Amino acid sequence: MNFESILFPEIDDKRPLVISGPCSAETEEQVMTTAKELSAAGVKIFRAGVWKPRTKPGGFEGVGIPALKWLQQVKKETGMYTATEVATEKHVYEALKHGVDILWIGARTTANPFAVQEIANALQGIDIPVLIKNPVNPDLELWIGAIERIYNAGLRKLGVIHRGFSSSDKTIYRNMPQWHIPIELKRRFPTLPIICDPSHISGRCDLLLKISQQAMDLNYYGLIIESHHSPDDAWSDKNQQITPSILEELLNTLIIRNTVQTTENLSELRSQIDELDNELLQLLSKRMRVSREIGQYKIEHNMPILQTIRYDHILNDRVKQAKSMDMSGEFIKQVLESIHSESVRQQMVVMEKNKK
Ligand code: PEP
Ligand code: MN
Repeated sequence: MNFESILFPEIDDKRPLVISGPCSAETEEQVMTTAKELSAAGVKIFRAGVWKPRTKPGGFEGVGIPALKWLQQVKKETGMYTATEVATEKHVYEALKHGVDILWIGARTTANPFAVQEIANALQGIDIPVLIKNPVNPDLELWIGAIERIYNAGLRKLGVIHRGFSSSDKTIYRNMPQWHIPIELKRRFPTLPIICDPSHISGRCDLLLKISQQAMDLNYYGLIIESHHSPDDAWSDKNQQITPSILEELLNTLIIRNTVQTTENLSELRSQIDELDNELLQLLSKRMRVSREIGQYKIEHNMPILQTIRYDHILNDRVKQAKSMDMSGEFIKQVLESIHSESVRQQMVVMEKNKK
């Protein structure tokens, strides 16, 4: 896939591209007040949810078509571009009919290939920027599949929104960032613009700056941040919305590192990393060879491959050691689990061969 890396040549000359506005369009007054304050703060793209996916029925499910008229009004009065979420064919037709400039596909929709295909069919041959949020579950292939469906409908002005992934673990985040997933997406599709949504990642205002800064340090292209002229009165996502003036402050606080040139010092450090990775691989390959020898020994002595007590002991011991070496126990546990599962696989191959 080949994407246009600049979505809005008129406005995105400098990082970050900022999209802001309320979670939901609630009333004409709320939309217009928020939009005018944002425009005064220098924001050029206005977001507002017109149709809202809610976990349970009975909540505020969005104003629908009348809100599209308010977005037209925003465009007319402030000159901002407008963006909204579409989840069905009907949403696409209505949004296009009312001149919405940018569409986004929500996290729940991205997780559903039928819905994404329906949207792709409705967009066939239409040249409009579409931003695809990550699916709620941490599934990179599902995310890429959704991008491909829209791409295959002929659209090229595509971007993605990283809004975090749901998890059953209780964490400080509303949705876990799992940065490695968007980083891997960027590695596979370097020209695909990535926008971070710290509002839905954190679910709370006090983490917005930290997450936005992390996104900028990872060279993200833009930020989509929810704002409301009076967050306490918001009809949805009230804990994560900030006022336009707080947004302005946040944007002014961000440190944007733009240097692409590699300095000599950095090259030196990078070659050290290459060398260390090489040593790691050599060591791992040596460790696997020993594992295979152990596998052979177990066969000859009629022992099962998995010796849980020994494995528990290794884990506890190494975690303790790693902590004393300034690494997180969780990190080393994950590394050892991966190494252990590869060792078990290699020992099983040895067993298989012995059967023949
Ligand atoms: C939203 O942007 O308001 C929204 C519903 O987001 P998500 O699809 O990421 O939950
Ligand atoms: Mn929201």
